[in-house]
Amino acid sequence: MKAMPFTSFMHLALDEARAAAARGEVPVGAVLVSPGGEVVARDGNRTREKADPSAHAEMLVIRAACAAAGSERLPGHDLYVTLEPCPMCAAVIGAARIARLYYGAADPKSGGLGQGPRIFTHPQCHHVPEVYDGIGAREAEDLLKGFFRDRRGP
Ligand SMILES: [Zn+2]
Repeated sequence: MKAMPFTSFMHLALDEARAAAARGEVPVGAVLVSPGGEVVARDGNRTREKADPSAHAEMLVIRAACAAAGSERLPGHDLYVTLEPCPMCAAVIGAARIARLYYGAADPKSGGLGQGPRIFTHPQCHHVPEVYDGIGAREAEDLLKGFFRDRRGP
């Protein structure tokens, strides 16, 4: 099989983050890409809309892709998310057997990979994806900062 050239889908995840901000949600977006390079799910945070604290962008795209695939595992898939996943999402990313995780901004408050629980360093984590951080980090950070600044008011 011929290796495919790398194509980042982070710009689509950033679009989803912007759409989330427009809905009044914390601006985080995610895109799930199949082994063949097709976008199988894309979404942004919907915790307020769904009144569901687990409706993070990563959870929504993994749920949608698993439902479409009729499987609880997504081997060979790539996940792009604009912000470092929280511990809940990191655990689900491992459980879903996601192959590669690309994230943008680090999240000192709620992140679960580079800080805090560091989910993928635990032996209890049965599958560890390849992790690439910092892709589109600046834009993701700017979106988040703008969102929280606007909510606090001038
Ligand atoms: Zn999360």
